[in-house]
Amino acid sequence: MNTAIILAAGRGTRMNAGRNKQYLILKNKPILAHSIGIFQKCNLIDEIIVVINQDEEANCRINVIEKYQFNKVKKLVPGGDERQHSVYNGLMHVNSECDIVLVHDGARPLVTHDVIERCINELRSCEAVSCGMPIKDTVKIIDENRNVRVTPMRDSVWITQTPQAFKLEILLKAHNHALEEKIICTDDAMLVEQLGINVRMVEGDYENIKITTPDDLIMAESILNYKRKFRK
Ligand code: C5P
Repeated sequence: MNTAIILAAGRGTRMNAGRNKQYLILKNKPILAHSIGIFQKCNLIDEIIVVINQDEEANCRINVIEKYQFNKVKKLVPGGDERQHSVYNGLMHVNSECDIVLVHDGARPLVTHDVIERCINELRSCEAVSCGMPIKDTVKIIDENRNVRVTPMRDSVWITQTPQAFKLEILLKAHNHALEEKIICTDDAMLVEQLGINVRMVEGDYENIKITTPDDLIMAESILNYKRKFRK
């Protein structure tokens, strides 16, 4: 059984919208409704757990889950202080039949079925998968004085996106290990890396952006307009 944990428990302060960015409207629909909708429609996903801020539960239930009839959403779970804690809370509520879990940022409303499928298929030959894309720019690693310390070779640097897909037992082990060792990571793949387990990258999509600042919303709207006009 394949479960998707969709995260919407951030506060989105970099958006400066005065409220959680996931409920901002993108093309007539809350951002979160776009994100959940893609997993709802995907026949490879059996169950969805949405991680939310407790004070936003009624809003999420009424204006997202019920309004768009997302019947694969089995639970709304309260998030934690860090993204990692929110994922952990979600993991505590997956169905007992679940063996594959995908973690997705609710703030990535432009993910596609193809990307989800690539992640799940790749997991047949490994234990942990992240989608991502090769960087287009050259990256500099700097020190605290902004002096450049390292310039990694461009063809070995990818940006990470979500979904990330895992065998459930591996992700649980990684989270428990992080709790014991008091490690905080910004994505789940990094937690698995800490166990010394290989994480495989698969191709995501340059359009699979995370809505973080107001310009991302403009970008997402343009991408949706373009898709509607020029693609099916
Ligand atoms: O903060 P960032 O943009 O990296 O968050 C990525 C995703 O994780 C967002 O969808 C956000 O709602 C979610 N998140 C969460 N709980 C937190 C922090 C972030 O669910 N404590």
